[in-house]
Amino acid sequence: KAKHDGRGRFQLFAPFMDETVKLRGQIEDELRHALSDGQGLSVHYQPEVDAQSGKVIGLEALVRWNHPVRGPLAPGEFIPIAEESGLIVPLGEWVLAQACRMAVRLPDLFVAVNVSAVQLRTGNFVERVVGIVTAAGCRPGLIELEITESVLLDEESAAAATLHRLRDLGFRVALDDFGTGYSSLSYLRQFKVDKIKIDRSFINNLGSDAEAAAIVTSVVTLGHAMGLTVTAEGVENREQMDRLSDAGCNELQGYFFTRALPEDAVVAFIAKQTNFRNVA
Ligand code: C2E
Ligand code: MG
Ligand code: MG
Ligand code: MG
Repeated sequence: KAKHDGRGRFQLFAPFMDETVKLRGQIEDELRHALSDGQGLSVHYQPEVDAQSGKVIGLEALVRWNHPVRGPLAPGEFIPIAEESGLIVPLGEWVLAQACRMAVRLPDLFVAVNVSAVQLRTGNFVERVVGIVTAAGCRPGLIELEITESVLLDEESAAAATLHRLRDLGFRVALDDFGTGYSSLSYLRQFKVDKIKIDRSFINNLGSDAEAAAIVTSVVTLGHAMGLTVTAEGVENREQMDRLSDAGCNELQGYFFTRALPEDAVVAFIAKQTNFRNVA
């Protein structure tokens, strides 16, 4: 992009771009390393709570990377690099394998896994997923695949066919970050999914912003009319939980319940069987 801004500006930004490119290259190498020896990578799990019963009914697997030198890196800092380099394919498969182990360990809960566009585009995605799930001894019905809308922008028909095959095999599919894409509604028509997850930007202002509340209510109505489960992400307080439950939202996820936790911590968290409807 900088090239189009004219020669002078390109030169001005060149040193900065060099540093960025260098850093990305380093992180890519380090991530490849981490994947080969499994050092520093882990999966944390954030509970998803049934809005009516207040019980945990599922978990979202979220990758974590504790870099030996740089310390903990947020997914936003390395997922894009993994996508550009193709490392998202082995990384995504590794996360899925961990998630399947968790699903076998807690068979009453579903486990949701984020799937990148890059993974969806690989020719043998369905076969790879089936292979990993089968090897883990996990039922496909326990695994939910989360796809973001932006992911689906290109090669839509191929992506739709892939998702269709996965649903036929018993996997559930969720549309993540719903409402932030360019054409959320046309996606809903084009891609048969089981669930929509309302992006947390709509949940943030639920108390103060009448428009955010109207959007949430409408999405719930729309989702239910289409026979879909509606989940809200980013629930941070009691008021949001109550408003979302009143609006008919089916599932809730957010820091109000807990942040994503390491495997053993989330198992302990679930064992306590907190009913969040009763939490003051
Ligand atoms: P996402 O799939 O929308 O996941 C939800 C993100 O929101 C997580 O951030 C979670 O920690 C955060 N979150 C949950 N509740 C709250 C809340 O109440 N308030 C706030 N402010 N945030 C909340 P995280 O773990 O940093 O992940 C960010 C994104 O990185 C994910 O967004 C997902 O798109 C991507 N990601 C994470 N793990 C994977 C993975 O294994 N594979 C792929 N392809 N992408 C991943
Ligand atoms: Mg997600
Ligand atoms: Mg999300
Ligand atoms: Mg999100």
